[in-house]
Amino acid sequence: MHKCNKCGLCCVDIPVTEKELSMFKYILKDKFKNEVEEYNRHGLKYKIIGRCPFLKNKKCEIYNFKPHICDIYPFSDKCVATWKDNSKEV
Ligand code: SF4
Ligand code: SF4
Repeated sequence: MHKCNKCGLCCVDIPVTEKELSMFKYILKDKFKNEVEEYNRHGLKYKIIGRCPFLKNKKCEIYNFKPHICDIYPFSDKCVATWKDNSKEV
């Protein structure tokens, strides 16, 4: 069974809905500095490039309001990689 090692790899380049992206911008205002690119898969319209601005000291600052993709993790290869190499950190 998967055990999260808090490597933070799933908190990088996160795909979000339009509404979730608006929430990020609304909360962070001018502190939102990540690049955003179109994604358009599975109803997720954008990808927030780079480390998520809400990841602080390996913890999510908006845990109860995090985007859907964060709720369904571990979901992609990014995390599978950490099962093989638990030393990876961001
Ligand atoms: S990538 Fe996997 S192990 Fe790393 S923080 Fe995310 S869920 Fe945890
Ligand atoms: S919202 Fe939280 S769980 Fe989701 S990517 Fe950002 S820090 Fe990680």
